[in-house]
Amino acid sequence: DQLVNQIAAGEVVERPANALKEMLENSLDAGSQSLHIELLNGGTKLIKIVDDGCGIARDELPLALHRHATSKIASFDDLQRVATLGFRGEGLASIASVSRLTLTSRYQDASHAWRVEADHGHLGEIEPAALSLGTTIEVHELYHQLPARRKFLKSDATEFAHCAEMVKRLALANPGKQFTLLHNGRPQLRLAPGDLARRAGELLGEEFVSSGIAVNEGFGPLRLFGITGNPTLGKSSRDAQYFFVNGRYVRDKVIQHALREAYRDVLHHDRHAAYCLFLELDPESVDVNVHPTKIEVRFRESQAVYRFLLTSLTKALSATRA
Ligand code: ADP
Ligand code: MG
Repeated sequence: DQLVNQIAAGEVVERPANALKEMLENSLDAGSQSLHIELLNGGTKLIKIVDDGCGIARDELPLALHRHATSKIASFDDLQRVATLGFRGEGLASIASVSRLTLTSRYQDASHAWRVEADHGHLGEIEPAALSLGTTIEVHELYHQLPARRKFLKSDATEFAHCAEMVKRLALANPGKQFTLLHNGRPQLRLAPGDLARRAGELLGEEFVSSGIAVNEGFGPLRLFGITGNPTLGKSSRDAQYFFVNGRYVRDKVIQHALREAYRDVLHHDRHAAYCLFLELDPESVDVNVHPTKIEVRFRESQAVYRFLLTSLTKALSATRA
């Protein structure tokens, strides 16, 4: 079972940033309003997350660290299947299998918190602990005992950059939540709860927001909102391109294509622009592959989605030109 965990971890927790993403998504799932992150050495030495979510009951603590599906490896086929199963219900188990992890949590109205440690998947005793609310997870020395994996890690600065980018995406998608990020004891981000314009200003620059074009369009179950840069004003950085589908950051060409076409038609402009756009649609009509290292999206009716994006963007751009 431990081997399965470590193989799964190697597949999906490529680097500290992926572990961080898994844990932050758990914190958000738990209804946290405040997410505090501390990293040491780009997350390779320590990833610590303090949240104020609903917590985990004492008896659930070991379950949180176990794979939900406890199938044993019987054949190479099984092994391959496990590797491609993705991460559902095995995020924490995978991380715990390749690190020294401490999980401390206080469940809703419990009188105190409980803590359990896992050393490369081996769970210790569940002990009483002090914590006023929520869940605190510390992941020490990710991959330190697995040299074959460890050698894929880059410099601390690079690993930190990946972690910071992950936090940025989640913070853009959740502007109403508070985020703080420390690296090697130094504050890197301190984001107060607010609306998207404020959050985007803090993370993508005030100029992007003030010169940008607000988008807010709907058609049936489809909705597009956010901000797109105005390529006719100033220079806009190309890398600030964020597209979220149902609140999840995704990499997909459809938005880029629609933007390029709308920019060309309305503004007669061919330049790339920064954007931070959110598409919402019926979850049934989209398949988001939540593999933590590459987030792909498949629309059931991609032509209809493209037409909606193009129409919405054309409308938003035309409004600013008038
Ligand atoms: P999944 O998120 O797919 O259920 P994980 O391995 O990421 O699987 O987490 C296992 C379980 O541990 C979650 O389903 C949740 O019940 C619990 N859990 C993990 N992190 C937290 C957290 N920060 N707050 C509350 N519960 C948590
Ligand atoms: Mg999870």
